[in-house]
Amino acid sequence: MSKLREAYELYEQRRAEWLKAPIIQKYFVDQEKRYVHPFRIYGNVWYVGDNWVCVHLIDTGDGLLLIDAGNSGATAMLVNAIWEAGFKPSDVKWIVLSHGHLDHIGACLFFRRMFGTRLYMGKPDAEDFKYHQELSIIQDTGNLADETFVVDHEIEDGEKIRFGNTEMEFFLVPGHSNGVISCFFDVDGPEGVKRAGYYGGFGFNTLQKDYLIDIGDTKYEMRKVYLDSIRKVRDQKVELFLANHCINNDTLGRMEKLKKDPEHNPFLNDTLWGEYLDMKYNDLLRLMADPAQN
Ligand SMILES: [Zn+2]
Repeated sequence: MSKLREAYELYEQRRAEWLKAPIIQKYFVDQEKRYVHPFRIYGNVWYVGDNWVCVHLIDTGDGLLLIDAGNSGATAMLVNAIWEAGFKPSDVKWIVLSHGHLDHIGACLFFRRMFGTRLYMGKPDAEDFKYHQELSIIQDTGNLADETFVVDHEIEDGEKIRFGNTEMEFFLVPGHSNGVISCFFDVDGPEGVKRAGYYGGFGFNTLQKDYLIDIGDTKYEMRKVYLDSIRKVRDQKVELFLANHCINNDTLGRMEKLKKDPEHNPFLNDTLWGEYLDMKYNDLLRLMADPAQN
């Protein structure tokens, strides 16, 4: 057998192994099927994510800001969505990351290398990218091109940052990861100025017993931290709840309603934020009461 053929067969074996992993099948294969045509949510806020992971684009009047950078392997889709929305990817000046997991950081390095985009992330996750890269879970994609990075700005609790015409107020809300951020900002649209609220990570996958024991949190302290974080921002005034994953606010269901009836924007809702945070709070209490999780 030629060396070339041998190398190919080794590659084929590795690829077959990789494809067998359920997580790969579920989240990293055929991502193009998850493409969503971008749409304007309200005012200067656009949806440019896929049907699972949200990415929001904010036209600040002085450059574009992205909240999150999409899934690992979804960079081309994100670039296409930005074009399709009528913007130029090269105008993306800033990316604010909800947290440092593989499904939110996909296009970061592409944007920084290609356009000099500055990357912002909560300080604790930025630290984990230096010393505990395994917490990013990028090893699960099997894509050897993925890597963690040093961010340009580590977001601190209570920090306010102005991006063009948009001032964001940030809070650290650890739980789903150590450095999840939450942010609040005004959005001006046809129904007046509305307060947008964003919570950057709700998943319980990192609060499961086996996961916590593996990372050394044998007393499951992170679950209490999560509950504290929910309480911390629960009573913020939020009239426009922006999701981290589509499931948080039924992004696609609301998109369909918005298309049918643009006069009644279903994303504008004064109670959704509080209701969703209360639901996650109670869901976590239930998980904590589950004997299998103790
Ligand atoms: Zn995550």
